[in-house]
Amino acid sequence: MAVQLKSIRGVHDGLPQDVRQWQQVEQRARAIFKRYAFEEVRLPILEPTELFVRSIGEATDIVSKEMYHFVDQGGDDLCLRPEGTAGAVRAFLQAGLTRAGAQRWFYAGPMFRRERPQKGRLRQFQQIGVEWFGGEGPSEDIELLAMAAAFLEDLGISQVRMEINSLGCQQCRPLYRDLLVKFLTTQHANLCETCCERMDKNPLRVLDCKIASCQNALTDAPEMVAHLCEGCDQHFTGLKSGLDALKVPYRVNPRIVRGLDYYNRTAFEAVTDQLGSQGTVLAGGRYDGLVAELGGEATPAIGFAMGVERLAMLLPEAESASVDVAVITMGDALLNHSLNLAQQLRHADLCVVHCGLGNSKKQFKRANREQARFVVVIGESEAAQGLISLKNMATGEQQQITLEAALQVIAG
Ligand code: ATP
Ligand code: MG
Repeated sequence: MAVQLKSIRGVHDGLPQDVRQWQQVEQRARAIFKRYAFEEVRLPILEPTELFVRSIGEATDIVSKEMYHFVDQGGDDLCLRPEGTAGAVRAFLQAGLTRAGAQRWFYAGPMFRRERPQKGRLRQFQQIGVEWFGGEGPSEDIELLAMAAAFLEDLGISQVRMEINSLGCQQCRPLYRDLLVKFLTTQHANLCETCCERMDKNPLRVLDCKIASCQNALTDAPEMVAHLCEGCDQHFTGLKSGLDALKVPYRVNPRIVRGLDYYNRTAFEAVTDQLGSQGTVLAGGRYDGLVAELGGEATPAIGFAMGVERLAMLLPEAESASVDVAVITMGDALLNHSLNLAQQLRHADLCVVHCGLGNSKKQFKRANREQARFVVVIGESEAAQGLISLKNMATGEQQQITLEAALQVIAG
């Protein structure tokens, strides 16, 4: 009986053509991050719900409505991680690394958020993230941004803007927040319902509302960058001058606030116009207070995460790895012989498809479908002489030669 299989909205399969692109993103990230001495960590997908509530912040969208959390059979409140930074900080301090000097980590894996699914916005998606513990910047900020820019360039993604901002610190942000709330109060009538709600709980978030009328109402809003304390101002100036020196293009966007509570000072996003309102492909910032907030020794840190699916959407379709050789067997009695030959070809690191048994026309058809560069035919006479028939599918050239000679021809 056929059963109607259900699938979850916003949760997708990664079929070979998808995974080829994801791997491309991952491989480039690994190669570039290695140059900056970052090492991979593999952290749990399941974490205590409390970890995210404490770090990301109760009033944020993620914690207030997007987390997949549940109570397990033992009564523990668990959560499918919505992002990677909180877990990385937990791992960092539980491993007792706060005095171990700088730690430069990256990770790649699935994240979960119960958002409204749309193009580029999934409920299970993949992030590649980096976290750099133990450096107050701005040199770390400069290098991290340069690494992000180098990665995007290496991947061949053009038309991405790097936008930066400073979110200030414990000293200057509360003063700015008051100024902003005062301003927002004068614009109350022009702001959307969500913004009006955010005014009390999370007023900075009003700044990045995507609704045009709200953005219009914010034209004259005070900007954090104009109200930084001396320390934050110097930090931000240092960041900009370093990026200039390294020729990393950027634009100051005073509207970048990030949706998570733990950020301070440097915040940044890499944005493209090619993905509509899901145009942020990479985002991050400094979170100097988070390690202490979670009970560790105060450790400055900065990081970013990027959406693998969004980046993949900007890449050309990736071709599958080509098959080097298809092996065809003329007569069922030669099966073991041809299977053996396929193995020998694979020992030489070739990608080989054995075309099975039966009708040779069917086998040739299969070899064509695999788009093999060469076809090897094993028949009675070849087997008797210890030779193989090698056909170059591009030129049509065919020869009866030894395996060793064939390997040389195939290697070109
Ligand atoms: P957005 O503003 O698009 O909602 P965000 O600020 O929630 O993004 P972060 O939490 O900073 O995103 O995550 C970093 C990156 O992960 C984003 O820039 C994006 O590329 C990707 N990302 C975030 N949420 C999703 C999602 N639901 N589906 C696919 N990719 C996502
Ligand atoms: Mg979001």
